[in-house]
Amino acid sequence: MAKKPKPGEYPAKLRIKKNDEVEVIAGKDKGKRGRILRVFPKVNKVVVEGLNMMVRHQKAQQTGRTTRSGVQQVQEGGRIQKPAPMYAPKVMLVCQQCHRPTRVGYAYHAGEGKLAMRKYRVCKHPDCGKQVD
Ligand SMILES: [Zn+2]
Repeated sequence: MAKKPKPGEYPAKLRIKKNDEVEVIAGKDKGKRGRILRVFPKVNKVVVEGLNMMVRHQKAQQTGRTTRSGVQQVQEGGRIQKPAPMYAPKVMLVCQQCHRPTRVGYAYHAGEGKLAMRKYRVCKHPDCGKQVD
C-alpha cells in the first residue's frame, strides 16, 4: 500500500512521467507538443522540452581562477534559454497509440502474483483504450 504522506507533504497525483509526450491545453503554448524533461510532483509542475521557454540573462562573472599566464578567467555572459516549469494540469498526455491528447486512466495487470499488483496507464478514449506505456 502507498505510504501515508507526512503533514505538509501531499504530492499531487501526477499521471505524467518523464519522457512522456504531452500536449499543452492552456496558455500561450496551447496546442504545442513536447517531451517531459522533469516532473515536480510536490508543486504539481512539469518541465516540457522546448516549451514555456524562459530567457535568463547571465552576467559575465569572474571565476576567481587565474590562468598560468596570470590572466583572470572570466565566465562568458549571455542569454540562456531554458524551459521553465509549468503547471501540470495545463498539459495532457498524448497517447502513443492514437496520437491524441488524453486523460489517463489506470488498469491492473491480469493474473496473479507480482504482475497483478502493477498498475499501468491507459488511454481514456473509448475507441482506443490502449495501454499508454
Ligand atoms: Zn489512445
